[in-house]
This record gives sequence, structure tokens and C-alpha cells, in this order.
Amino acid sequence: MDSIKVEVKEKDCSQCSEIKQLSEFGTARGMRGRYGCNSICRKCCAKRTAIYREKNRDSVLVKERARFLKTYYKISVDVYERMYAEQKENI
Ligand SMILES: [Zn+2]
Repeated sequence: MDSIKVEVKEKDCSQCSEIKQLSEFGTARGMRGRYGCNSICRKCCAKRTAIYREKNRDSVLVKERARFLKTYYKISVDVYERMYAEQKENI
């Protein structure tokens, strides 16, 4: 490491090893540790996230569905499934 203190404006991506502006790296806020995006650039992060999603397709879909239901209907998956079953019976 350089002993001269300079404001760090760029760093190397631990994935593609390219030196990039700090703005090219994802912020740690909210994402800390989840995909380990702090040390890799946005491009690599997107790639990694895509691979993660592909590998964990089912669990990601289940989680996203749960989040969707919670956000838009403010209900949990359990409640939704019960409502869905009840509506089905009434048809
Ligand atoms: Zn990278």
C-alpha cells in the first residue's frame, strides 16, 4: 500500500481486478454482506446476483412473492393462500 495519504477515489474490483471509480461500486447500505457487493464493482455484482438468482430460483421466487404480497396487500403468504383457497371454493 502507498504510504502517502490520499483520498481514495478508486479501487480494484476483487472479481474482475479492474481499477474503477468508487461510484462503480455498490454502496454497502442495505446490501451489506448479502452478496458481498462492497468489494466488487456494479457490473460484477449484477452478474453475481444473476447467477445467485439462477441457482436459487425457487427460493428467490418464493421470497419475492412474499415481499410482493407484503408490500402491496400487506398480507403474508399464509393469509394469501387461505384467501386464495376460500375464493376458489366460492367459484
Ligand atoms: Zn468487477
